[in-house]
Amino acid sequence: MDETDRLKDWDRHHLWHAFSQMASYDGAIIQSAEGCWLETVDGTRLLDGASSMWCIVHGHRHPVIDQAIRDQLDQVAQVTLLGMSHPVAIRLARRLAELAPGKMPHVFFSSDGSSSVEVAVKMAFQYWQQRRTGRRPEKTTYLAVEGAYHGDTLGSVSVGGIARFVSMFQPLLFSSIRGPTPDTYRLPPGIPEDQLCSWYLDRYRQLIAQHAHQLAAVVVEPLVMGAAGMVMAPPGFLRGLREITRQYEVLLIADEIAVGIGRTGTLWACQQEEVEPDLLCTGKGLSGGYLPIAATLATSEIWEAFLGDYSESRSFFHGHTFGGNPLACAAALANLELLFQEQTLQKLPLTAEHLAMRLAPLASHPHVGQIRQRGLIAAVELVADRATKTGFPWSEEIGKKVCQGTIRRGTWLRPLGNVIPILPPLSIGTEEIDHLADGLMSSIEEVLGKQRTAV
Ligand code: PMP
Repeated sequence: MDETDRLKDWDRHHLWHAFSQMASYDGAIIQSAEGCWLETVDGTRLLDGASSMWCIVHGHRHPVIDQAIRDQLDQVAQVTLLGMSHPVAIRLARRLAELAPGKMPHVFFSSDGSSSVEVAVKMAFQYWQQRRTGRRPEKTTYLAVEGAYHGDTLGSVSVGGIARFVSMFQPLLFSSIRGPTPDTYRLPPGIPEDQLCSWYLDRYRQLIAQHAHQLAAVVVEPLVMGAAGMVMAPPGFLRGLREITRQYEVLLIADEIAVGIGRTGTLWACQQEEVEPDLLCTGKGLSGGYLPIAATLATSEIWEAFLGDYSESRSFFHGHTFGGNPLACAAALANLELLFQEQTLQKLPLTAEHLAMRLAPLASHPHVGQIRQRGLIAAVELVADRATKTGFPWSEEIGKKVCQGTIRRGTWLRPLGNVIPILPPLSIGTEEIDHLADGLMSSIEEVLGKQRTAV
C-alpha cells in the first residue's frame, strides 16, 4: 500500500466527514490549491466550482491574504476576546461597521456561521428580556422560513426549515413558527407571477401580525436560500419583510453567511433591496474562505439594551474561545481590502454574464427544470418531468451522479439533492467558466441519457 492509498484508507476509516454516508464515502483528497484550482494527492487538477463550500472569494493562496496571515503569525496567533483584545479584531470590527448595510456599529465574533446565528438568536432573545424602553419578556419565539438553512447547531436548526434535518432532531429543538418558502420557481397554484411577491408577503404579514406579541425575530436568508437549492425569492420580498417586521416590532435577522461578501453582486444581499436588518450574520467568505471566522453585527438599539452596571447582569452571556482569532481576522481584513483593490464587485457582472451565457444551452435539456442565477450563485435544477416540475426520487442520487461526472471531467461540484449549485470563486476567469460549463453539460447528458433538443 503506497502513501496515497494509506491516506485514502484512513480517510474513510478515521475521518468522519460532514453530511456524508461513510459506508460509501469516496471523496477526493486535496493536497494543494492555487487560484480556482484544487490538486489532489493523485495529482489530479479540479476546478473548485463550489468555492470549497461557497467560501473562497479571491481564489486559493492569494498572495495578499497569505502574507497577511504570515505577518500576523509573527505577532500572535491567538488572543481571547473574553476580557482582552488585539489590534486586528478591533480593526476588523471597525471595518465591518463601516461596510454594514445600515447602522450596525457593534460586531460580535464567533468561529463559524452556525454560531453567528446562535449569537443573533440569543441576542434577540436577551434584548427583549432587558430592553430599557419597555421590556417584552414574552417575545421568545422566532419566525423562520420553510426550507431555510441557518446552520447545524441546535439553535440554528431550530430556526431552519429543512425537513430532514429538523425532523431528525425535533425533540432537541425549540419550536419556531414557519412561513412558506418564497420561491420564484414553484408558483403556488393560481398565483400569477407578477403577484408572487405580494402573495408571499400577505402570508408573512398575517403570520407576523398574529404572533407579533411573542415573536423575538424573523430569520431570513436574503435573496437566495442556499441549502434549500439556491431558491430565489421574488424581488421585493426581503424589503417587504423588513417593512412588516418594523410595523409589528419584530427584529429582522439577516443570515448573509452564504450570500454576503459579494456573492450576489453587492457586498451584502440586503443592499439590493435597501434593507437594514437589526442583526446580520456573516461567515464563509468573510476571511476569503481561508480561516474559520464569523460575525454577528448589531444595531445600537440592540447593543444599548446590554449596557448597564455590572450588578444588573446585562452582559451578553455567550462567547467562543476562538471568536475573533487574530489569524482569521488578519485574513478577513485582507480579504475585504482586496474586494476594493481588485474591484471584484465591478468585475462581477461580466463574470456572471459569461456564466449565464454558458449555462443557457442547458435550459433546453429535457431534464433541466430551471437554471437560476443571482451574481455568482447559480444552480441547475434537474427534474424527472419538466412540465410538472416533478423531481427525481432523492434515492436515485441523480445530482450526485452528475457531480461525480463533472469531477471526472475536472470540476468539483457538490449537489443539493437534484440541484447542482455553481458557486465558483468570485475571481474565476472566462476560460475556467467554459471548462466548468462544458464538464457539467456533458455530465448531465451522460447521466440523463438524452440529448439536448434544438432551441
Ligand atoms: N447559514 C447559511 C445561509 C449557510 O449557508 C450556512 C453554511 N452553509 C450556515 C448558516 C452555517 O455556517 P457554518 O457551516 O459555517 O456553520
